Amino acid sequence: MAPRHPVEGTSSLWQATCDMPSFAPLAQDIETDVCIVGAGLVGLTAALRLVRAGKRVVVLDSQQPGRGNTGRTTAHLASAIDDRFSELARVRGLDAARKAWESHATAIDCIEAIARDEDIACDFERCDGYLWLAPDQDPDILRQELDTVHAFGWHGVQAMDEDPVFRRPCLRFPDQAQFHPLKYLAGLCAALKRKGAAIFGDTRVENVEGGEVVVVTTEGAAACAARPRSSPPARRSATASPSTASRPPTPPTRSACGSPPASCPRASTGTPSTLIITSASSRAATARATS
Ligand SMILES: Cc1cc2nc3c(=O)[nH]c(=O)nc-3n(C[C@H](O)[C@H](O)[C@H](O)COP(=O)(O)OP(=O)(O)OC[C@H]3O[C@@H](n4cnc5c(N)ncnc54)[C@H](O)[C@@H]3O)c2cc1C
Repeated sequence: MAPRHPVEGTSSLWQATCDMPSFAPLAQDIETDVCIVGAGLVGLTAALRLVRAGKRVVVLDSQQPGRGNTGRTTAHLASAIDDRFSELARVRGLDAARKAWESHATAIDCIEAIARDEDIACDFERCDGYLWLAPDQDPDILRQELDTVHAFGWHGVQAMDEDPVFRRPCLRFPDQAQFHPLKYLAGLCAALKRKGAAIFGDTRVENVEGGEVVVVTTEGAAACAARPRSSPPARRSATASPSTASRPPTPPTRSACGSPPASCPRASTGTPSTLIITSASSRAATARATS
């Protein structure tokens, strides 16, 4: 099959086996509670959790969803960390190693739950993970790793004389998982669309100005600016009621964000309540009108 999304001349298995949605650049002013930069696994997961929490969310990507690392990952969903729990425990202590395990396991559970709740067919399946030694490695590494995970409470990990594939000594880690990352990402995009979030592709964020309040972009979008809590009329607070949560982000009035970024209102104290994303084209029009 021909590569659909070639990046740097190559295409991954995931990219060749999934029709990803694509999104138009930001072309008009838009107002939101949260602006997420990057429509990969992290950005789209954060976006979903935020819309579920009642926030209006806009996602901007300089390319399209899935063109970054998520489209090229090996897609092992592992709570057995690459850098070894024994090493983490040596440097940070056993409690830190346990927290690392728990956080990774929770992340896998999160993907499994989202796939189920949003009805995303992404080939998610639980499987065992195996840790082998490289030929020149000390067998004691496996024993140290096993002792560490048992010490912090992961008793399901076992030492095996032979793994099922390479027939070599290994540790077996239960409750790992695998999935098709781009089918999952496409499902996240669909869920976000259903819930009223907005995604814009080919819209690069170039800079963040004014601390927390202005995100300068080129191509599609030009700026995100936070309105101070005191300035009327705020569309709604960051703690919106669920009844308004499903509304898609809507274009603000010209008075809200028709100015270039330098003259956008800035939050002087407290947390910004509303983000205003100004499109490059409208900024140019405003500049022409005021010159
Ligand atoms: C070869 C490989 C194998 C891997 N294997 C595994 C594995 O087995 N298990 C595992 O857990 N992890 C693995 N990883 C890591 C995993 O893929 C990444 O941690 C994960 O995909 C990162 O997701 P992300 O959303 O942070 O980034 P990305 O998927 O890279 O998404 C970031 C997005 O941000 C956009 N962007 C960047 N800059 C801007 C900007 N200025 N303005 C607007 N948009 C912007 C990009 O276009 C991109 O779409 C692997 C990674 C690689 C490369």
